[in-house]
Amino acid sequence: MLNLVIFGAPGSGKGTQSERLIDEYGLHHISTGELLRRHIAEGTELGTVANQYISQGHLIPDDLMIKVLEDVLDSNPELTSKGVIFDGFPRTIEQAKSLNNMLDKRGTKVHAVVGLEVNEDDLIKRMLQRGKESGRADDNIDTIRERLNVYHNQTSPLRDFYINEGKYHAIDGNGNVDNVFGSIKKSLKEKLG
Ligand code: AMP
Repeated sequence: MLNLVIFGAPGSGKGTQSERLIDEYGLHHISTGELLRRHIAEGTELGTVANQYISQGHLIPDDLMIKVLEDVLDSNPELTSKGVIFDGFPRTIEQAKSLNNMLDKRGTKVHAVVGLEVNEDDLIKRMLQRGKESGRADDNIDTIRERLNVYHNQTSPLRDFYINEGKYHAIDGNGNVDNVFGSIKKSLKEKLG
């Protein structure tokens, strides 16, 4: 049983590598970005609120985001008993502390954090390409720049947080999908056996 956090800047390949990790380790997947986009598509109250932040490239406030995640864990108790990959959560120190508490209450913990490290020019290129292919509304140049600012200011401090916890696996995320996945597997194997 393994709870993983996949961590990295927007466009670093979290979603793509999550799919590979799910196949390899049989994990469940919680992507907070996908969850919010589903709410927006369905026109729920949460979707309406979330859209105001997502369209600006800003983070949903911690108290709301933490409650959304706690609701997901409460209504799907099998998630934490079989192992989860957390994709896009946590994004702030506050969220990381809450995740530790939420998992602690359920008798488990974050076992490892996979940190995808990709240079900034490539992040922008990848997101612009994804915007063309998927029509994702926040993959336009102005929102991308804001999301990268938000990442540097609010999310990147998590790297040190998880290094201090001895859980951070730095992965060079610049290569192709197969090579990056190979590095992840090697790194997790060394740590987790
Ligand atoms: P993603 O698909 O992970 O890139 O997330 C898309 C957008 O959803 C982000 O730019 C945020 O506006 C919002 N979002 C997703 N996860 C979180 C989170 N953990 N905390 C706050 N906002 C989030």
